[in-house]
This record gives sequence, structure tokens and C-alpha cells, in this order.
Amino acid sequence: MVIEEKAKPAWIEVNLDAVARNTSRVKKLIGDGVRLLAVVKGDAYGLGMVPVAHTVISHGADLLGVTHPDEGVILRNEGIDAPIFIFRPLLPGEEDLVINYQLTSSISSLEQAERLSERARVYGIKVPVHLKVETGLGRTGFLPVAIKEHADRLFSLPGLKWEGIYTHFASAAGDPQFTRQQFRIFQAVVGDLKKRGIQFPLCHVCNSAAALLYPEMRLDMVRIGTLLYGENPPGVKDDLGLEESWSLWSRVIHIQKLEKGMRVGYGRTHRVSKDTTMAVIPVGYRDGFGVDVTPHPAGLIDLTKVIAKIILDFLGFPVGKLYVDINGTPAPVLGRVGMELTCIDVGKIPGIELGTPVRLMARRTVIRESIPKRYCMQETAGNSDA
Ligand SMILES: *Cc1c(COP(=O)(O)O)cnc(C)c1O
Repeated sequence: MVIEEKAKPAWIEVNLDAVARNTSRVKKLIGDGVRLLAVVKGDAYGLGMVPVAHTVISHGADLLGVTHPDEGVILRNEGIDAPIFIFRPLLPGEEDLVINYQLTSSISSLEQAERLSERARVYGIKVPVHLKVETGLGRTGFLPVAIKEHADRLFSLPGLKWEGIYTHFASAAGDPQFTRQQFRIFQAVVGDLKKRGIQFPLCHVCNSAAALLYPEMRLDMVRIGTLLYGENPPGVKDDLGLEESWSLWSRVIHIQKLEKGMRVGYGRTHRVSKDTTMAVIPVGYRDGFGVDVTPHPAGLIDLTKVIAKIILDFLGFPVGKLYVDINGTPAPVLGRVGMELTCIDVGKIPGIELGTPVRLMARRTVIRESIPKRYCMQETAGNSDA
């Protein structure tokens, strides 16, 4: 890829052609009968919400999914007229935003439904909504008993148009038994409501992992993020040929000889074991580099793994070690990542100069949103063959 002439300390390259082709691949997987809701929350998982939204829409996504109504407002102001789906419950007072920007809301409580319906009546319209069912993630939505209890009131509210019903899986990639159980609970709720004469045009439960693993659960629509950006859910394989779409770059700003025995960085945690050359790059934990989300251990086995990793790391074994990539060669990070500077060992890599580009391995969604992005797009919009 072309590197900008003007030196930037760090930048992100986003390959929109890859996103476009991944979208087409997912479309092909799910077929014509299933709608595609492209999830662009979290700044499109770090790629940039607006450019990604245009790309996925022009390559066949039917709806966009975001967490907050404000994200929907930004998308509307960018001229996007596809339906925009808001995942989280609305705060009191956000109803007018939803109405004025024609957003589609998730309904997770009776109070929320009543507030929205009331405002819709003032405007003399009906707002499209989806009923969120809590089947085991333990987060938002109606428990099946609450739906039974409130059904009469919910489905007679005059300001709401019930366009869909959905749930979200707790462990689609990791726990088939629990996923099937959630699906059964969901199907039972849909079945009960159907018996009462209440039907929904769009029933949906699948995220990326479930859409890959359980074709029978795709129903009317799937909600896909991860796959569009070229990744697989952890531990799930596919034969879609997805392409990576994102990379984080920095460049060498300082080169220094290190002698055996010297210490590197805050806390003096790294001891240099033989003479080498070090390079410094202007990226640190403030940019999200070296930051990872460590889940709470799920059980004793998990806990043992976490402890083993910490001990091995302390003893100097290369577990969970951070690497960067220079011309295709891995270079280890030395010592702690600083706030805005990181040291790397380039002793084994020839030809390092000031300005040499360095590719960083990082978790997209924790990388600072304001790092400048360079978009690469060769295909013309609307061309959807993959
Ligand atoms: C984030 C999200 C998704 C997308 O999940 P992926 O695994 O990235 O495909 C789907 N549905 C809801 C409700 C989400 O919050």
C-alpha cells in the first residue's frame, strides 16, 4: 500500500473494497430470502462508521445497526436513507430524536414503549419498533413472562408499528447448548404471540457466529458486524474467504543502540539480554495500543490459564508478547508500552531508518478513534460482484 509522503506519527488504513467484497460474501451465504442488517456500531468496529455505512449499503445491506440514537442522526445527516436500527433502550427524552430522524427502536420495557408511543401520537405517526426478548444474555429485553403479562397493553399502543422481534445470544461462538436453548425460548415467545394473533415481519437472532454455525436460525434477518470487517468470531471457521480490512501503522522516530544488561522503559521491567538495536515509535496506550479487554475468568480452568500466562510472561517466555511488523518481519515490543511511545527490538531487522513504517497488531475496537484514517477504494460504488 502507498504510504503518505507527509510524515504522520500513526494512521489507520481501511480497505473499503475488502468491506464491500465481504458484504457480498455474507449476502451470498445467507441467500436472497434473508435480510442483512450491517452492524456499524463502535465506529464500525474502528473502521469509521460513515464510509463503511455507504459501502455496505451500496453492496446489499438492507439495514444498519448502531447502539445509540446519536449515531443514527449522524448517518441520516450523511444522506443515508436505509432503515437504521438502534440496539439500546432509549433514555427518556430521546423519543423525538428517533421520530425526527426516522430511526427504528428496540423496545425493552413497557415504560419505554409507552413514552415512545405517546410522542408518536403527538406527531400523528407510527414509529417502527422491534421487541427485544431477553433469553439468556442477561442484559436488556423483556423476559418471556413479562411479555405475557404486558402483551395486551404493548400491542395496543397506538403510536407503535411492530416491525420485528429479536434476541441476542450470550455465547454463540462458544456454547451450542446454551445458544440452542436461547433459540428455543425465543421461538416459544414468537409462537405464543402468534397464537394471540400477533405476528412480526422480521424475526432475528443471529450475530456473525450464529449466522455461520446455525443456518436454521437465520430466520428473516441476520445482524452481522465481525464478518463484514474480515474477521471470524473466535474459534469459528468459515470458507467465505473474508479479507482483512483494517491495519494500524506508525513509523520509526528514533533509533538507539542498547547494551547487554540495560533496562528499557517504565518500571525497568525489561532487561536487555544481548547487545541490540532499539527503535521508538510514537504510539502508546493512549492510542489503545497494548490495551486489551481481559474477560473475568469464567471458571477455575480459565483462572488457571490467566495465572499461568502471567507467570510465564514474568519468567520471560514469549506468551502474550506484543509484536509489531516491519516489512513482514515481526519485531518484539521491549518493556512496557508508554502513554505515547513504545520501544521495539529491531536488532534482527536490517535497513531500519527514521520514518520506516511499522505495522502494529492491535484490537481495532479499542484504538483511539481520532487516529487519522486512509481509505482505499478502487471499485466504483454499486459494483457488487465478489
Ligand atoms: C454487536 C451486535 C451484533 C453483531 O455481532 P457480530 O458478532 O460482530 O456479528 C449483533 N446484534 C447485536 C444486538 C449487537 O449488539
